[in-house]
Amino acid sequence: MKVILRKMSRYFRMGRNQSEDSPVISTTSSVNDTHLSPLRQTELSLRYDGKLLTRSEIHLNETKFSMLLTKTYFTPIDAMKVTAFQSVCQRCHYGGKALFAKIPCARCNRTHLYCRNCLHMGRIMECESLYYWSGPSFAWPKHHDVLSWQGELTTPQQNAALKIVDTIHHHGELLVWAVTGAGKTEMLFPGIHKALQQGKRICIATPRTDVVRELLPRLQQAFQFIHIQALYGGSRDNDGTAQLILSTTHQLLRYQHAFDVLIIDEIDAFPYHQDPTLQFAAKRAVKRYSAVIYLTATPREQQLRLLSAKKLPHVFVPLRFHGHPLPIPKPIYCSSLNKQLSENRLPQKLLDWLNHRENPQRQLLIFVPTIKLSNQLQSVLIQYCTREKIIKKNSELMSVHAEDKQRENKIKLFRKRQIKVLLTTTILERGVTFPEIDVAVLHANHEVFDEAALVQIAGRAGRSPTDPTGEVIYFHEGKTNAIVAAVSAIKKMNRRGERLAGEKE
Ligand SMILES: [Zn+2]
Ligand SMILES: [Zn+2]
Repeated sequence: MKVILRKMSRYFRMGRNQSEDSPVISTTSSVNDTHLSPLRQTELSLRYDGKLLTRSEIHLNETKFSMLLTKTYFTPIDAMKVTAFQSVCQRCHYGGKALFAKIPCARCNRTHLYCRNCLHMGRIMECESLYYWSGPSFAWPKHHDVLSWQGELTTPQQNAALKIVDTIHHHGELLVWAVTGAGKTEMLFPGIHKALQQGKRICIATPRTDVVRELLPRLQQAFQFIHIQALYGGSRDNDGTAQLILSTTHQLLRYQHAFDVLIIDEIDAFPYHQDPTLQFAAKRAVKRYSAVIYLTATPREQQLRLLSAKKLPHVFVPLRFHGHPLPIPKPIYCSSLNKQLSENRLPQKLLDWLNHRENPQRQLLIFVPTIKLSNQLQSVLIQYCTREKIIKKNSELMSVHAEDKQRENKIKLFRKRQIKVLLTTTILERGVTFPEIDVAVLHANHEVFDEAALVQIAGRAGRSPTDPTGEVIYFHEGKTNAIVAAVSAIKKMNRRGERLAGEKE
């Protein structure tokens, strides 16, 4: 409770200094009880308004909780809808068969269903309830002049930013299709600022944890006086009570009708694009009147169809913020590549390239298709790179993947240039920016490298105005459709970008 009080005092402080309104609860619900002081009610509504939680996620003792249930401040719903034909988990809306299992339950002494689809959020049992806050809603403060970002938007960025502001104002939907390195985070700032001025609650959700981690310091710098929370598995400041929230799309499963503005970054990324339960969570997380903004550099078929049917308004940003074209990937054929990699040998063409890069000072990201390969190749690459003086010591080359406990730290070290070469799986394909790097994809013909992944990976290079080029090499053993499509998509974007730049001259 101390934490809540600290937060409350922060909100009140903001209310005095920067806000038009204090964070008072609306008076539409009946609050004429003698047991809850107005401050206590405000604390509770701050903590629980817009959430959908299990009992164990509501940190109140039984007496207080029962009292709030009686007063209908909390409303219970069954955790699962079970009929003779189908069971549907009410937290994640999974309605298939494969991910329901049965176990004996100590609470009700029956053997019954639990949902494995949302098990990562804590087990949810058939006999449980979920609770949403139905008490007085929390009125978020209105903040003025809280945009501390001093930068300037380019004309295409400005154009997108205006559409975002307009969409937020009119509770609409918008797809922002911006090439990698277009500076889409900055395009969001005016919209977020506007929403904060209007006392709205905002969430930027993305399928990738690393993207959440990357966005937090940038957002925090742009809105220095706003309390921002980042929610992902293992995050610390994670009670989800901030007005501006960054979140993985998984964490949206704990929200219901919470946000006035939901921005979904990397809409086309795994797992969101192929997981209907996450898409459901996003829909449920917004209020009835809300704005939803999707961001992508590589829209999928599903979004392209909506665009061509004119069912989803969109804005296109085909130019990087520094005005230089996207680096065009170079596919290089390596015979027996798969065999060599499985025998832990590095293809000669990779070694040749490592020794003859245009700018050997650049850091290097080497993408591999599997965790096994990233672990396996690390020592042979270290041996080669130390011998050839590409790295000075072993610790300058590391591998990283989704299950790596050191993942966050290794990305930090790469950012600080203490790691020069990083072998990675597709976890770093998108949403991360390193200023001066070359990129190689090893076994680019592997099925994990679809068109979107290859375009995103290529988009890691040349992001800095001081080094806007960077090499991108796809080492493959036979061009796939994805490789061909990725190269052609990048060239097409560059042509559109050039046309746009030409129009302005
Ligand atoms: Zn039970
Ligand atoms: Zn579930």
